[in-house]
Amino acid sequence: MLETTHVLTALAIAKNISNPFLAFGAGLVSHFVLDAIPHYDFQGKILKQEYYNEEKGGDFGKKEFSRTGKIVIFSDLTVSLVIFLYLSLSGRIWPNFPDLISFAFFLFDNLHLAAGVLGGVLPDLANLVCIKTGFCQPKWFFKFHKKIQIVKIGIVPGLIFQIALAIFSLYYFMR
Ligand SMILES: [Zn+2]
Repeated sequence: MLETTHVLTALAIAKNISNPFLAFGAGLVSHFVLDAIPHYDFQGKILKQEYYNEEKGGDFGKKEFSRTGKIVIFSDLTVSLVIFLYLSLSGRIWPNFPDLISFAFFLFDNLHLAAGVLGGVLPDLANLVCIKTGFCQPKWFFKFHKKIQIVKIGIVPGLIFQIALAIFSLYYFMR
C-alpha cells in the first residue's frame, strides 16, 4: 500500500491513543492490516525487472529501483509532503508555522502522533533500508510483510480505495 495512505491512517488512529507506545503498536498493526487488504501499489514494477525474473529476486537483499519505482516513490512522498504542509499551515500540527520551536513543542506534547506515524511506516522504512543497504533483519519480519500482500487488484479500484481511505483519515484527523 502507498505511504500516504499508511501515514494518514496511522495519524487518524493515533489521534485517540494518548500513550505513544500504544499508538506506535496500533500504527504498526494498521500497516499490516492495510497491506493485507487487496490493493494496488505498483508491485512488480518498483524494482528493476531482473529482480522479478531471476530466482534471486525472491531473496531479500540490496536491489535497485526501476524508473517507475522511483517515480512512484517520489510522487507518494510529494503527496505526503503537501499534506504535511497543509496540516502545518492550517495550524493542526504546527501551531506557529514556520516557527520551528512551536513545532518541536507540539511534537513533544503529541508524541503519540509521531509514534503512530512511525509505526505506520516502519515496515516500508525497513524495506527501504533493506533494498538500499542489504541489511534485511530479522528475516521473518520481511517474509511476513511480503506474504500478507499476495492479493492484488486492478489499478483503478486499487487506487480509488486507497485515495478514499486517505481522504477519510485526513478528514477524521482534522475534525
Ligand atoms: Zn507495507
